Amino acid sequence: MPVSVVVGVNWGDEGKGRIVDYLAQSADVVVRFQGGNNAGHTVVNQYGRFRLHLLPSGVFNPSVTNVLGTGMAVDLEALAQEIDEVSGRGVPLGGLKVSDRATILFPFHRELDALEEDRLGERRYGSTRRGIAPVYGDRYLKKGVQMGELLYPDYLRRHLAGVVEWANLLLTGVYGRPPCELAEVVEWTERHGARIRDWICDTSQVIGEAVQEGKSILFEGQLGALRDLHYGTYPFVTSSSCLASFCRVGGGLFERPIDSVVGVMKAYSTVIGEGPFVTELKDATGDRIRERGAEYGAATGRPRRVGWFDAVGSRYGVRIQGASEIALTKLDVLSGEPEVKICVAYRIEGGETDRFPLNPALEAAEPVYQTMPGWKEDISSVRRFEDLPQAAQRYVLRLEELVERPITLISVGPERESMIVRRRAAGG
Ligand code: GDP
Repeated sequence: MPVSVVVGVNWGDEGKGRIVDYLAQSADVVVRFQGGNNAGHTVVNQYGRFRLHLLPSGVFNPSVTNVLGTGMAVDLEALAQEIDEVSGRGVPLGGLKVSDRATILFPFHRELDALEEDRLGERRYGSTRRGIAPVYGDRYLKKGVQMGELLYPDYLRRHLAGVVEWANLLLTGVYGRPPCELAEVVEWTERHGARIRDWICDTSQVIGEAVQEGKSILFEGQLGALRDLHYGTYPFVTSSSCLASFCRVGGGLFERPIDSVVGVMKAYSTVIGEGPFVTELKDATGDRIRERGAEYGAATGRPRRVGWFDAVGSRYGVRIQGASEIALTKLDVLSGEPEVKICVAYRIEGGETDRFPLNPALEAAEPVYQTMPGWKEDISSVRRFEDLPQAAQRYVLRLEELVERPITLISVGPERESMIVRRRAAGG
């Protein structure tokens, strides 16, 4: 379909990268529309295994234009490193475009992020310390620097003087740290910016032209619905919007509606960082699923918290994403479990609800489980739904019923071809 969006319906780490990589095979343009290098996508393909943090997952397809959109916060050093790593392993990066209105993330943003997490101690948000909250805060405070300013060096230097003055008020006045040196910030910006400046342009124009030419465009969300700044488990959220509806602003899609929203949903739950997690497993089952699913953060290597599938959170996530279909990932990881559980409701202060509440209620919620038989078979080479063990089929059909959307793709392994296509998905 011409315009599709791939987004997470849980807490992120659902495996969006591999779904985008799969759907990007038939896309002309792939666009990141929010966030920075605070999460990572793992993609496995003919070039090897990659962890992408800033580059869109379409970079492995040489005919695809890859866009870093306006809604992003870009650490120039991290982007330059990622470009070097990916191109150093033989991937051509010809079709890269970086929005002139995206926000630059500076080293002092990383420092401020870490200082604030340390100040909070036990009450920390579980930030990746990559500077995301401070850089988006600065954008809203109108203290941000736009990527396109790299093309105006004199203006940039003048602007940086004011921006560094502001950062130093925070570093010295709030945290009692030494100030950062303007000359160092200028040097850092020019050095890494030089690596990127040729790709900077008005990306909304790129999207507009692609729309006019009837090209197929794929927007790639980072993190998941429950980490959205407005609709997620605030304040344990990210500082950008990871909802499909934001792709119009953050990606620059103004001329036409979205045709399809693919919600990526994992066959069990994982959470990285802090915040309430109703179905968390702190036992051997959780450890087994973590190991089989290699549930360690792509950005930081932190072990992820693991739990049973949460249908209450997932249904809410599906709804706020406006998902029209679901890609279910990592079903193979549950193979070998004698039984599998689904949280169908929350018990809160004696009552039951299937609505996803605010944090104060979430912290008090106990899971109400439906238990289903598990399956023993290795399903990683299955390619047709009918060939899955009966118990796995029943599990998928029950999830479909609970989230009220068709599950069109089911992934059963990390490789591009480890996929069951049930009905034709957008772009696929
Ligand atoms: P993203 O940020 O949503 O793209 O998620 P990650 O990159 O953190 O997620 C997924 C991890 O699971 C990576 O290591 C993938 O290679 C792996 N993965 C993705 N899909 C599957 C699957 O269907 N089965 C298995 N076993 N691993 C998968």
